[in-house]
Amino acid sequence: MTHALITGGAGFIGSHLAERLLAHGYHVTIIDNLSTGRIANLAAIEQHPKLRIAIEDIRNTNVMDRLVSECDVIFHLAAAVGVQRIISEPIETIETNIGGTEVVLKTARRYRKKVLIASTSEVYGKGIRFPFQEDDDSVLGSTARSRWSYAASKMVDEFLALAYLKETGLPVVIFRLFNTVGPRQSGQYGMVVPRFVRWAIEGEPIMVYGDGQQQRCFGNVIDVVKAIHLLSEAPGAVGQVFNIGSSEEVTIQQLAERVRERAGSRSEIKLIPYDEAYEAGFEDFRRRVPALGKIKAVVQWEPTTPLNDTIDQIIAYQREEKQHGGN
Ligand code: UDP
Repeated sequence: MTHALITGGAGFIGSHLAERLLAHGYHVTIIDNLSTGRIANLAAIEQHPKLRIAIEDIRNTNVMDRLVSECDVIFHLAAAVGVQRIISEPIETIETNIGGTEVVLKTARRYRKKVLIASTSEVYGKGIRFPFQEDDDSVLGSTARSRWSYAASKMVDEFLALAYLKETGLPVVIFRLFNTVGPRQSGQYGMVVPRFVRWAIEGEPIMVYGDGQQQRCFGNVIDVVKAIHLLSEAPGAVGQVFNIGSSEEVTIQQLAERVRERAGSRSEIKLIPYDEAYEAGFEDFRRRVPALGKIKAVVQWEPTTPLNDTIDQIIAYQREEKQHGGN
């Protein structure tokens, strides 16, 4: 049976992927330095006989060498994530995202193991043509704005992965995750949906940044990990870049209203200028929508969970966490 190594496997998306792969009979090894990941994310599978967990940084080359030699396929999800965190810790973002991926690819090459690389819709930058197609141009802002370091670091990861394929024949697959949400996502690093849910449950003001008219598509993590799994098993996906996300658009103002309504909350909705929310000169995206034709053609995958269901799942999860003193 296939043995998967998941870097960042104790994170929000990694932990859901681990659950899915175990449910499909895989052996799973997780490596995670718990920077944003949490052991609590693995509560449902911690005791699973086919799961191993290494609490380590992926830049530890000795550990990576051993783990990669023992697996069949690598899912590289470990990264510094979250807009708030990227702005407050830009060195860590750049060094982890580039240095970590370098170790993963070098080690994978040594043992000739297939690698799936997590990238991000941020690489489209300020794209103006919707929806974003995988071969569209990237339009990033100035290096003086640290937000763009995340997109740039992930672009280097993509270049490097494709270079390994070209020069050494290493089988790589790149997937660009659009806004992904669901139970276990933390609001601590800036992600909007868990933050809104938390404020709604607590009856605190829901803080909408900018004018609230910016639009996003929020994909459910269960749909997303299914897409990643399918891509890993499709020979036709090798050497390709795929968008993964939802195409259901919502403005952030509408999102705030929906969360408030579904949580039965009376929180006030407050507009906060970007400069106050992040830093002076912060650049946000007005709109971000994935083109999903390519992934549909290769693995017949389409997102199926409506945003309202996802919001309800997150509300239920946070209420449960609150009851047990967690979060
Ligand atoms: N946002 C907000 N309130 C918050 C956090 C985020 O209004 O407490 C906005 C943010 O400015 C952006 C959108 O919600 O326009 C999505 O933010 P997130 O950080 O979740 O993802 P992004 O799409 O920016 O990567």
